[in-house]
Amino acid sequence: MTAVTANADAPLLLDLPPLDAARFARIEDKVAALMRTRCDVVTMQGEALLPLEACIRSAVRPGSTALNVITGPYGETFGGWLRSCGAEVISISAPFTGAVSPEQVAEALREHPEIDFVSLVHAEAATGNTNPVAEIGAVVREHGALLMLDAVASVGAEPLLTDDWGVDLCVIGGQKALAGPAGVSAVSVSARAWERIAANEQAPRRSYLSLLDWKERWIDAGRTALPHAPAQLEMLALEQAVDRIEEERLDAVITRHRAAAAAVRAGVAVLGGPVPYVIRDEHAAPAATTLRAPAGVDAREVVSAALAADGSVPVQAAAGALAAEMIRVNHYGRAADRAVVLASLAALAAGLRALGVAVDEDAAAGAAGAAWDGAVSAA
Ligand SMILES: *Cc1c(COP(=O)(O)O)cnc(C)c1O
Repeated sequence: MTAVTANADAPLLLDLPPLDAARFARIEDKVAALMRTRCDVVTMQGEALLPLEACIRSAVRPGSTALNVITGPYGETFGGWLRSCGAEVISISAPFTGAVSPEQVAEALREHPEIDFVSLVHAEAATGNTNPVAEIGAVVREHGALLMLDAVASVGAEPLLTDDWGVDLCVIGGQKALAGPAGVSAVSVSARAWERIAANEQAPRRSYLSLLDWKERWIDAGRTALPHAPAQLEMLALEQAVDRIEEERLDAVITRHRAAAAAVRAGVAVLGGPVPYVIRDEHAAPAATTLRAPAGVDAREVVSAALAADGSVPVQAAAGALAAEMIRVNHYGRAADRAVVLASLAALAAGLRALGVAVDEDAAAGAAGAAWDGAVSAA
């Protein structure tokens, strides 16, 4: 690997090592291995919303019926794209306090046999829940619809078995658990999905949203010549992020994320004040823990007070309608770290105390540390 290092004459991020077609293809192969897929992987030169929109616009057309599973804000976004492609959209949602069940999906598919596309988010960093994709994938596969999965917040944080789970279109980004760049992303495309996309006259062509352009000009051409100048800085950063995961080992990275979620949940359980938003441990995303602010206390004030106590912690207020009640403790990427998690709890405790909420930060630190250590030694 050629590291991106400063040299005497150039700033750190300029005059990078060359990124030719062979290297670009090798980075794609590393990403495919991480996603546990043997399908084609299309790298897209933009943030992960780009391949998510590309999947929907490529696979869905007027006459399609889509099942959109809503477990957080991204599901709402998908619904808009699906409708704008002319699809009939059936939505099911789970409250943000839990996960969608495979039975709910099976029932929707039974009621609407015409469903030919299912969109699902694996884990939601924004709402802190994670969905049972293996079981849902089996139900969707039996029905015969295509399954699109948003795995941006799960890749690296929890197991992601793209092919084993029957995911036809699996989208990842580098910016969450991979601790990498946000400006490139990737999508795996199954043979079934390529057939559907190729048969769709509405699928984008000669467009930044086109999966077919990349198939024709890059994959089918043997990945020997890049169609455009690649996002070199981001691609090299993505390679380093994936290499770093391989060095640490993916299971160790996943364990760190699980330990972080277990620690925050255990700490909050004895802190006093906020409670985990997601009720059951198995529905809690390893990438982020969401908390319900204590009654009568505004979540945004808790976050401001916590950040006033320690501005370095990855604690934030939720966006949109949940802003007043939901506190989000991120623990993905480099923040899936024992010291960072303990600092986040300490900052929350200080913020809550400043607002007059009675808290026991020593108990929280003890419980969180024990939960972290337990999760690591159980792995
Ligand atoms: C973070 C995330 C994305 C990427 O969106 P951003 O707006 O760039 O953060 C997409 N899907 C999910 C589920 C995510 O958590």
